[in-house]
Amino acid sequence: MKIKFWGVRGSIPTPLSGETIRKKIKKALTLASPADICSEESIDRFIDTLPYSVKGTYGGNTTTFEVMTDSGELFIIDCGTGLKGLGMELVKGDFGKGNGYANILLTHTHWDHIQGIPFFLPFFIKGNKFNIYSPYEDCRERIEYQQVFTHFPVNLDYMLATKEFITLEKESDFYLNNIRIVNKRMRHPGGAFGYRIEENGKSFIYTSDCEFNIDEMFDIDTYKDFFYNADVVVFDTQYTFDEFINKIDWGHSPATIAIDIASKFNVKKLLLFHHDPDYSDEKLDDVLSNAKAYMGINQKKIGSLQLEIAREGMVIDL
Ligand SMILES: [Zn+2]
Ligand SMILES: [Zn+2]
Repeated sequence: MKIKFWGVRGSIPTPLSGETIRKKIKKALTLASPADICSEESIDRFIDTLPYSVKGTYGGNTTTFEVMTDSGELFIIDCGTGLKGLGMELVKGDFGKGNGYANILLTHTHWDHIQGIPFFLPFFIKGNKFNIYSPYEDCRERIEYQQVFTHFPVNLDYMLATKEFITLEKESDFYLNNIRIVNKRMRHPGGAFGYRIEENGKSFIYTSDCEFNIDEMFDIDTYKDFFYNADVVVFDTQYTFDEFINKIDWGHSPATIAIDIASKFNVKKLLLFHHDPDYSDEKLDDVLSNAKAYMGINQKKIGSLQLEIAREGMVIDL
């Protein structure tokens, strides 16, 4: 299974400003010595040593993930603005000729999870086929509503690919050949569902958007079957703990709680994501280092859990 991260930002797309890029360049130049910039090779070596917030960006596109299974089944999880870039890539192959086929899993229909659809090129090409799965009976209406003429000039029916909307039974599983897909209800305003994809003994979990507050933590064993022994979990950690306690019922979690849940259920790798649009790259560096510090002081209980922070463009091979 191969997972590619096309959008990791929550709530609203967050492009870098010119001023932010200037600050990154200035910081890099301040840190460089003459030896660091004396050849192309030394420049590359120097860039590799810089903090991620200086040498790159965690990305501004809203949530979109691509999962290619070992058996060649393509899944797209959520359709934020990351979907535009994924669509441009897909049309270079079968989707450009009208021979493409993919499955879309939607967690819910808040804007940051559907706003890429009107700009998804493979939807415009006749012959492409998409099965769109969600636990919402009115999913088609919700997506159509985003593209009524007063909001967007092209309605969903004008996008000529075949789009079949399939309603999943809530908190159930289904199989596509040897791939098992589980959906699990998450606490979030208006509702949301997480997905677990299993193939050949490997499992990937996508939980966006989700708030694990004290009520959920009292019932945490009801999540055991969903999370248990997962290889990779991508988890909504939009808030720092300080913000979390001021935003109860806003529908998102802090990294500390994601770490507690991942270690309790023997997850191998946890990725923090659904980054707050107000968080700069420097702040996201801090989110990761604070989360690692929390793991450090609880190391005995946490064991071998690996922790990373999601970056746009990241690829994980399972
Ligand atoms: Zn969201
Ligand atoms: Zn949401």
